[in-house]
Amino acid sequence: MTDCIFCRIAAGELPANIAYEDEDVIAFHDLEPQAPTHVLVIPRQHLSTLLDADTGHTLLLGKLQLAAIEIARQLSLDKEGFRVVTNCLAGAGQSVFHVHVHLLGGRAFSWPPG
Ligand code: 5GP
Ligand code: ZN
Repeated sequence: MTDCIFCRIAAGELPANIAYEDEDVIAFHDLEPQAPTHVLVIPRQHLSTLLDADTGHTLLLGKLQLAAIEIARQLSLDKEGFRVVTNCLAGAGQSVFHVHVHLLGGRAFSWPPG
């Protein structure tokens, strides 16, 4: 989708600070980090929200989680802990409509989230 900023980042058309990439997944640092580490993990395939996923996306959704975990290890978040979260729809805070996993770390996190 040419009007989707995350598709354009995945295609290399827009710049991003890449943290990880493979054939299915790409991850890059958030433009407005909400923690010392804030990485977005996205599928190369465009899905607007989690609600667009079905059983055909089982492997892909698993790859997003595993990529986030691997990046957390690489960035040394595996001792203090980290948060992995996906916002679905505007009511939950989603602002970019290309599915992404937020990987947040480097500070304490409260629960319940705001
Ligand atoms: P959401 O609000 O949809 O859960 O998360 C979208 C995230 O994308 C936000 O944290 C926002 O700062 C980030 N973001 C929006 N546009 C860009 C961009 O062009 N580049 C990068 N690296 N992050 C972006
Ligand atoms: Zn997209």
